[in-house]
Amino acid sequence: MTALDTSPRRDAAGVLIVGGGLVGASLAIALDAAGVAATLVESAAPRPDAQPSYDERNLALARATVNGLAAIGVWPHAAAAATPIRHIHVSRAGEFGSVRLEAAEMGVDALGWTLPARELGGALLRRLDACTRLARLAPATLEALEPHPGGWRAQVRGAGGVRTLDTPLLVGADGTESFVRERLGIAAERHDYAQTLFVCTVQPERGHAHRAYERFADGGPVALLPLAEGRCGLVLTVPADAADAVAALDDEGFLALAQQRFGWRLGRLRRPGRRHAYPIRRVAAARLASPRAVLVGNAAQTVHPIGAQGFNLGLRDALTLAELVAGAADPGAEALLAGYAARRAPDREGTMAMSHGLVQLACLELPALAPLRSLALLAVDHLPPLRRALARRGMGFRGEPPRAVLERLP
Ligand SMILES: Cc1cc2nc3c(=O)[nH]c(=O)nc-3n(C[C@H](O)[C@H](O)[C@H](O)COP(=O)(O)OP(=O)(O)OC[C@H]3O[C@@H](n4cnc5c(N)ncnc54)[C@H](O)[C@@H]3O)c2cc1C
Repeated sequence: MTALDTSPRRDAAGVLIVGGGLVGASLAIALDAAGVAATLVESAAPRPDAQPSYDERNLALARATVNGLAAIGVWPHAAAAATPIRHIHVSRAGEFGSVRLEAAEMGVDALGWTLPARELGGALLRRLDACTRLARLAPATLEALEPHPGGWRAQVRGAGGVRTLDTPLLVGADGTESFVRERLGIAAERHDYAQTLFVCTVQPERGHAHRAYERFADGGPVALLPLAEGRCGLVLTVPADAADAVAALDDEGFLALAQQRFGWRLGRLRRPGRRHAYPIRRVAAARLASPRAVLVGNAAQTVHPIGAQGFNLGLRDALTLAELVAGAADPGAEALLAGYAARRAPDREGTMAMSHGLVQLACLELPALAPLRSLALLAVDHLPPLRRALARRGMGFRGEPPRAVLERLP
């Protein structure tokens, strides 16, 4: 197993980031780029095939996200594996009305990009290797926390035994079941969607023309994201009580189900890749900050993947925090952390409400809702200002975004 310990034998950790997933690694890089001393602690070995979320899921990255990844020097390591999304098509099976968002109408070359999480993970690891101020402990696990004058004292178990690290700012980037959140005594609101998501790649008969499809159907939504070489990333949601039966289907049976749910817009779906299944839940921390501690990414909020918002939102957490900490005399100052929580609130609450509302609206099998839903889709499609507002938010320009993601848009 590859083990990494680039930290000098010291007790002062600088900003201590627990969790080197997609968001924690991005934060570590952003802090290093800003000249802030930090330590990154990650339970998994520093390899794309060892990290739990550096896997086969295909991420739809909003335009703002790609701007942010470029600003911290990650995108050059990932761009070659990414596929631009130039059109988005949202519809519901069996109902009229659809929404089409176009990059050209927004005056941009792409609304977003599709990138396998494994490729983004590899790019983050390569960029982490070039960090100069960052100490990295991996595999190493945070096991205990206690308050310490001016911050927190952490016990971290790694290859060389247990280390004690003192930090003026503890960052919980340790995912949905965050140990940091629990130890800080921050409550979390949970909702089990009773749905399972199946993810795999497929080869449609017709070219995807850089179009991403989101199609709502009884039983859950299905999405197709454009990938390289004409392939698409399929995301199929099924009720949790049907998950075992769907997992047991052979390729032919699985494709028949996907085809029935997605329809024939891209012709026959063929050659499915390996299937991966994910249970879906929503977990929202009651607050983002505690004395000398904050939460980012899935530790702060885990949302339904239907809206493709989890990492996009988490990166905006990370880049906002890095922006506030850069140049601050005390990274854990109460006013700074209150400012972080206040600045993230509109984006966080808006994105969580949008993701949750979308699932509720899309999955309710109420025939009486159908005409309303169709009308809503039609209205958005026929009102350019509404469509542009939706496209802007979809591109990740929400609330008061971190400066790193901004660009001049028409
Ligand atoms: C099927 C699927 C599709 C998705 N599609 C999209 C999409 O299209 N677009 C999008 O933006 N998002 C998408 N998401 C969401 C996205 O994957 C997550 O939001 C993102 O991975 C969260 O990153 P994170 O770093 O916050 O958490 P994680 O990736 O969960 O990382 C947490 C890390 O913390 C480490 N850790 C935990 N406890 C400790 C400890 N005590 N000590 C040390 N380390 C610890 C873990 O090993 C892990 O590496 C999708 C999710 C799923 C499941």
